[in-house]
Amino acid sequence: MRRYVIAGNWKMNGSKAGVKELLDGIKTDAQHLNNVEWIVFPPYPFLDQTENLLTNTNITWGAQNLSDKSDGAYTGEVSSAMLKDFGCNYVLVGHSERRSLYGEDDELVAAKFVAASDAGLIPVLCIGETLEERKIGMTQEIVTKQLNAVLDLDNGIERLAKAIIAYEPVWAIGTGVTATPEQAQEVHCEIRAQIAKRNTAIAAQIRILYGGSVKPENAKALFAMADIDGGLIGGASLKATDFLEIGKTCRN
Ligand code: PEP
Repeated sequence: MRRYVIAGNWKMNGSKAGVKELLDGIKTDAQHLNNVEWIVFPPYPFLDQTENLLTNTNITWGAQNLSDKSDGAYTGEVSSAMLKDFGCNYVLVGHSERRSLYGEDDELVAAKFVAASDAGLIPVLCIGETLEERKIGMTQEIVTKQLNAVLDLDNGIERLAKAIIAYEPVWAIGTGVTATPEQAQEVHCEIRAQIAKRNTAIAAQIRILYGGSVKPENAKALFAMADIDGGLIGGASLKATDFLEIGKTCRN
């Protein structure tokens, strides 16, 4: 059985005082909610503080991005080894904001995925279509192309087996507009079917999260769908009570 994942992408938000308040608020209650795997993705400067606050709790942490390079003259970049040094287990790869605002294409996303997986980090591969792409019926094509950028790597399916996928329709991220449970399920089911073409056992075990304006009010219906294994939560992960409420909607 696949264990639910509730992951909080804080984006470029927070302060030292705010991180302490948020994590203190989450960790007390999360310790009683063990049917869920809890992950937070703070901005880089707060990883040290996060490690200090979350070590020996049931919440793990990761980074929102990483470099595809291992070290050297790459000003402003952060490597997989540095993330490991701060206790990260996970890293987001290919978030739509990275793709659209910083020009990350499938090739770079795949290179970052490899950097993460080679370092023993668990990549959370974010894929999803824009509103225009959905309107012209290209959702499955786009999502399959983004997925295949990883599946077509050497050992792509073996690498993906150790990853998590987040389906995040771009039109639902930060907009307040959520995909209906049926819309999300349709794409999640197709993602699993694409993976099953390479390996049915891996398709059955891989966790596929939904992301895009998940809130306490809509989480339960989304997470009740057969192929939705939890959520990547942006805005609502910045409020401890909302983040916890979302996790509580997961079935036991
Ligand atoms: C995200 O940043 O991955 C996200 C899903 O954001 P939000 O929940 O705010 O739409």
